[in-house]
Parts: sequence; structure tokens; C-alpha cells
Amino acid sequence: LISVQGLRKSFGSHEVLKGIDLDVAPGEVLTIIGASGSGKSTLLRCLNLLETPDAGHVWFGGQDLMAPETNVNALRADIGMVFQGFNLFNNLDVLDNCTLAPVTLGKLKKEEAERVALDHLASVGLADFAHADSKRLSGGQKQRVAIARALCMNPQIMLFDEPTSALDPEIVGEVLEVMRKLAEGGMTMVVVTHEMAFAKNVSDRVVFMDQGVIAEQGAPEKIFGDPEQPRTREFLARYL
Ligand code: ATP
Ligand code: MG
Repeated sequence: LISVQGLRKSFGSHEVLKGIDLDVAPGEVLTIIGASGSGKSTLLRCLNLLETPDAGHVWFGGQDLMAPETNVNALRADIGMVFQGFNLFNNLDVLDNCTLAPVTLGKLKKEEAERVALDHLASVGLADFAHADSKRLSGGQKQRVAIARALCMNPQIMLFDEPTSALDPEIVGEVLEVMRKLAEGGMTMVVVTHEMAFAKNVSDRVVFMDQGVIAEQGAPEKIFGDPEQPRTREFLARYL
């Protein structure tokens, strides 16, 4: 579904991505782990061109994201993204947060968008919060709204950048549970996370990034049970 080849990105003289090759198959759940500054967010942001790569290619569903004739906005509508900081519209209630993009982009009529949104809100356990004030929700509720909102665009893939890092520890589980259910339902997902239990138990493949390269990748049993690279071992040792 996504194919990345030779991806490079620098900020000034600092090369943050040093040639990344990565494929994500339909239905696959990929987690990206690695130290702070290793380039995880930058890679994720290159997947939907929130960052413009300096070199290399990103294909999404067979279309080259960087080709001049590609309609990036149309492709982006198929890529859901959930950030650490929720990014809800605080002046809108929960339902309006969910319907804004599909209605504004002309994807759904208002009534249909509301029906779809109520379904997704129910799936994240927030059926009763449709008319709640977004800014009064707990962090976990906000993040679940952010997930429901992304799902309302009916994306082909969901990208998550440390979706639980801003949450109080006792709330992390409710968000991970929603993500686990999404994965079980067959959604293609790329998840940058420090939640090693999630990486181990939910993902099909784990990618370990170190200083702008993919240092190692493989099945979770392999990465967590018998990593090949000393730097993978060193990194994981910090989480034991
Ligand atoms: P973290 O775990 O802390 O989120 P990360 O692996 O996601 O780290 P990135 O956010 O991709 O790392 O950043 C990699 C490097 O690129 C860092 O040194 C960061 O300071 C730098 N960087 C990222 N975005 C920018 C930017 N817009 N301008 C300049 N430097 C940037
Ligand atoms: Mg990051």
C-alpha cells in the first residue's frame, strides 16, 4: 500500500533521514520504535508529505506522491493521521470535529457524515459524547475522538505518531485498546510508539530506527526476543 525508496530528508545541515526503504502491505500493522531524534516523526510525516523529502520516492496505492501530476490533497484524504497532541478543534463539539473534514471536502453530506461519525464514536466508546464540549474531555477521550475523526474520512491507512505519549499512564490503556481493535479489524496502520507491549502484541512488524536509518526490522518475536543488532538490544534494554 505504501512503498518508500531511498528517502532522504535534512533540516539545514542535519540529515535526519539517510536513505529509508520501507514497504507497508495492506492490512499490515507496523510499529516504529527508536530513540528520540532518530527520525521517526519525520519519516511518518514524509508518508503524507507533511514534510517534503529531499530525495527518494513515496508511493501510495501505486501513485508516486512526488510526481507533479499527483493530486496530493486527494491522496492525503485517504491517509488518516493521529498526533500526540490530539489537535481537536476546541471550539467545536465532538460530532462537529468528526464531520468537519468529510463535509467541507465534499466527501459526505452533513446527515450522512453525522451517521458515520456516530458509528465511529461508538466504536471508540464515545457514543454518548457526540455533543460534548471537546475542550472538557479527558486526554484519553480527546485522543479517541481524534481517532474517530480520522476514521470518518474512511482512510486506507492510519498513521499514529506517539498517540499515547501525552496521556496520563492510567489513561494510556483505553487508547491502545481502541488501536488494538482497529488493527484487529484489518486497518493498515503505521504506529510510532514507545509502548513496547503494544509493539510486541499488536504489530505484525517492528521497525527500529537509529540515527536516520532503519537499523533493524522484523517480526515482534524476533526484534524483542532475539535482536541481531547491538544497538537494538541497547535500546530495548532501556525499556526492561
Ligand atoms: P521523538 O521520539 O523525540 O519524537 P523522532 O524520532 O520523532 O523523535 P524527529 O522528530 O523525526 O525524531 O526528529 C529528528 C531530528 O530532526 C531531530 O534532531 C529534530 O530536532 C530534527 N527536526 C525535526 N523536525 C525539524 C524541523 N522542522 N526543523 C528542524 N529540525 C527538525
Ligand atoms: Mg517524534
